[in-house]
Amino acid sequence: MDFQQILDEIFAEVNQLNLQGKQADYIPELAKINPDKFGISLCDLDKNTYHTGDSCEKFSLQSVAKVFAFTLAYQIKGKDIFRRVGVEPSGNPFNSLVQLEQENGFPRNPLINAGALAVCDVLIDELKSPELELFDFIRKIAGNPAIKYNTKVYQSEKNSGNRNRALIHLMKSFGTIHNDTEQVLDLYFKLCSVEMTTGELAKTFLLYANEGKIKKTGEKILTKSQTKRTNAIMQTCGFYDEAGEFTFKVGLPGKSGVGGGIAAVHPGKYAVAVWSPLLNQKGNSVKGMKALELLTTKLGWSIF
Ligand code: GLN
Repeated sequence: MDFQQILDEIFAEVNQLNLQGKQADYIPELAKINPDKFGISLCDLDKNTYHTGDSCEKFSLQSVAKVFAFTLAYQIKGKDIFRRVGVEPSGNPFNSLVQLEQENGFPRNPLINAGALAVCDVLIDELKSPELELFDFIRKIAGNPAIKYNTKVYQSEKNSGNRNRALIHLMKSFGTIHNDTEQVLDLYFKLCSVEMTTGELAKTFLLYANEGKIKKTGEKILTKSQTKRTNAIMQTCGFYDEAGEFTFKVGLPGKSGVGGGIAAVHPGKYAVAVWSPLLNQKGNSVKGMKALELLTTKLGWSIF
């Protein structure tokens, strides 16, 4: 397969489509990002990396980073993590309050906001220095000691994150959050503000294509079974109320974020990351979804 040629073709084809979308503006700092940015990177399990477009520019991972917090919590707690968060698709927007109230503050899955907040609460329960240890973990799986969060994006969401405050207070009222709500939110906002390039993100996601092992060092982060289950959660929950659409059109486990990034994996083959800040109404990158649809179509491979 000539991955480079395929990525270049996708880049040109998607740009020609004149797809419409809008940057996330409920986090003011994200509304400032140039809407024309578009990059794709793919890493295969033979350690080859392919890039096209704006693949060297850092962007805000937002909800893509929820996968890393969940991975660490799963590594620490094993299956007991599922006492704190479920594995069912929500079929609702990522920041919806309605279902959470109906289900007594127990979040459906770790990839919606409520679930990621519960995961951050677990990390605060379990770790001596939660922020340091979470970021060391992300740097380790990324194989990059320079990975950090963007302080402006973090502050911007901290100042404007009333919906997340509502979610966590609702959970706290049901007793499903143990720690101080502002402390949990703080860790969550830092997590969401992590920045990577598409190249760095694809490399980090190789873990999920490689049975839970860091490709470069061989270190096992999750067991084979835990990796399969993490991928299953991404497949069914990674795109909220558009998870069906992504599965239908792309056919890979993946995770989106309102920074416009999407990371996806084909287990045993490759990891891919796309970034374009223009979002559809469900908060998923319009060009990113199209690019990945074209990728699995051109390759003729999907997990189904
Ligand atoms: N930080 C964002 C929020 O909590 C993440 C949402 C997303 O990327 N879907 O709203």
